Amino acid sequence: MSAVSIHPAVDNGIRPEQAGFSGGTLQCLCATDKVEVKVDTQTLHNHACGCTKCWKPAGAVFSLVAVAPRDKVSVVAHGEKLKIVDESAVIQRHACRECGAHMFGRIENKNHPFYGLDFVHTELSPQSGWAAPGFAAFVSSIIESGTPPSRMDGVRARLRELGLAPYDCLSPPLMDALATHAAKQKGTYRDA
Ligand SMILES: [Zn+2]
Ligand SMILES: [Zn+2]
Repeated sequence: MSAVSIHPAVDNGIRPEQAGFSGGTLQCLCATDKVEVKVDTQTLHNHACGCTKCWKPAGAVFSLVAVAPRDKVSVVAHGEKLKIVDESAVIQRHACRECGAHMFGRIENKNHPFYGLDFVHTELSPQSGWAAPGFAAFVSSIIESGTPPSRMDGVRARLRELGLAPYDCLSPPLMDALATHAAKQKGTYRDA
């Protein structure tokens, strides 16, 4: 086993998702009065993310983040503890003001290609069976949070070993979705 740590939830191998899993709750890290968010569906596009904005547990180099349709995501307990981390960011990350865990990220700009999808961290759930991560995004960005550039080959090798193809932006299908949205807005989109 390699010594390169990616995230505690994947370092010992990725747990497979459960067929037919239909959602559960996310809980913040407070000992009492936990903020609770219900995600009423299996998540999509779960991935490791190396950007500096996504929430990660203490000591993790990457975050694990997935999406779910916003109408399937609802705050069911202690919503009064939530605050938006950065009001000016495209993704409004709603975090617990006491423990700092990000409970969901939401895009309010209706013209954004990912409008309608909330970002969630299913490691905050007591249930298991959530979608397994499938790739690693924004890998080079971990340098910005303090990883020495000389370690990047080892990090990318470990990600590949875990089956998380490393990309320095999003995965090709998601980059294609962004470009498709842009092409449609510009009027240059062609489907054949
Ligand atoms: Zn909390
Ligand atoms: Zn990120």
